[in-house]
Amino acid sequence: MAEKLSAVKGMNDIAPPESAHWEWLEERIRELMRRYGYRNFRAPIVEPTALFVRGLGEVTDIVEKEMYAFEDKLNGEHLTLRPEGTAGVVRAAIEHNLTYDGGKRLYYIGPMFRHERPQRGRYRQFHQVGVEALGFHGPDVDAELILLASDLWAELGLQDIALEINSLGQPAERLAHRQALIAHLEAHADQLDEEAKRRLHSNPLRILDTKNPAMQALVEAAPKLMDFLGAESLRHFDTWRSLLDKQGITYRINPRLVRGMDYYNLSVFEFVTTELGAQGTVCAGGRYDGLFAQIGGKPTPAVGWALGVERILELLKAQHRLPEAPVPDAYAIIPEATATETALGVLRALRQAGVSVTMHTAGAEGMGSMKSQFKKADASGARYALIFGADELAQGTVGVKTLRAAPSGEVPVQVLRPLARPAEWAASLRA
Ligand code: ATP
Ligand code: MG
Repeated sequence: MAEKLSAVKGMNDIAPPESAHWEWLEERIRELMRRYGYRNFRAPIVEPTALFVRGLGEVTDIVEKEMYAFEDKLNGEHLTLRPEGTAGVVRAAIEHNLTYDGGKRLYYIGPMFRHERPQRGRYRQFHQVGVEALGFHGPDVDAELILLASDLWAELGLQDIALEINSLGQPAERLAHRQALIAHLEAHADQLDEEAKRRLHSNPLRILDTKNPAMQALVEAAPKLMDFLGAESLRHFDTWRSLLDKQGITYRINPRLVRGMDYYNLSVFEFVTTELGAQGTVCAGGRYDGLFAQIGGKPTPAVGWALGVERILELLKAQHRLPEAPVPDAYAIIPEATATETALGVLRALRQAGVSVTMHTAGAEGMGSMKSQFKKADASGARYALIFGADELAQGTVGVKTLRAAPSGEVPVQVLRPLARPAEWAASLRA
């Protein structure tokens, strides 16, 4: 036998019954996006490597060590499996001048790729739902995005997701803060770990994000960006907050909240839960007014967020909010293979009339006994068995047997239905 092959580490197959949870979640999300006026955008999964290097910044975790970057063997192009969705959407917006006639509200759902150490809530292929509001200055749209996420948690029945917000100000304010921060960190150089030393001059803001407990006190005492914000940045932040306050959205201002990517300014936020262990951030985002220009477009304000689908599904599971696995309305019992021809047509008509029905199909040993077929019907979870027996067919009928009592307490019965016009009794099979 040939050697077995397995999936790439950290990349998961999504099989039934879990795949039904994915479909269910995606449908709920698409419906909410429709109500909020966000339209679907589908960018390629592979982009030029330069897009992420320039867009995300060279000294980010993603660009430094997480990208699946490769050279196209056929033409030598430098390509990367997208590690996130924003850069691709912005690249497309510039390329097709999407914002020429005003702002655009877009969303995407799809796989992202990062070479991380696989663990609970952290995979190498994972999935995000992202929203991007392009061409809007905010802070009204920044508030809208928070409401959109909050309404999604409510629709899904999720609880205990806390919102943390912060403002990163504008580049000049960040620069002033950065200098003060470097001075503070340099004054305590003996307390810096290796990573912090390396980042001291390249990306000191990221040092504030450290998970090293030994550095917490140092980070705690560091100059706060908030104290360097000018009047306009503060006004943007305060208006955003007051819009959230008026909608009853609760949040915590986390002055140490900085995002992994370089492109953020002004509003940044994360939705976090304590129920998923170390990987507690389920959704994160912010404003990125500088990104368009950074990758060659004309300056365009923009804001967005992305949620981790695997983490949301895990939280739904923990909070017992996942729906029951879907079951067919009916299972077709076919005692003799000679009835298959008739059954295929009748079932097709039922399906065209909206009934979901699974047909019993032949195994290596033929159709199998009635008993084994009924076992399969039961296991399918269907409410009804349709029996295409020789006696029924001879009368121009099919038998309909109730396999499970209805919630109303209706007892199992067997009735005969005319084979000729299935559409007329199709409705009686639907739950
Ligand atoms: P983290 O701090 O957990 O690494 P991040 O800041 O790298 O997150 P973002 O780039 O903001 O994450 O992505 C948005 C969301 O996508 C995260 O909040 C998380 O829910 C999800 N996510 C990010 N990386 C992964 C991953 N490797 N596996 C599963 N989900 C992920
Ligand atoms: Mg990360």
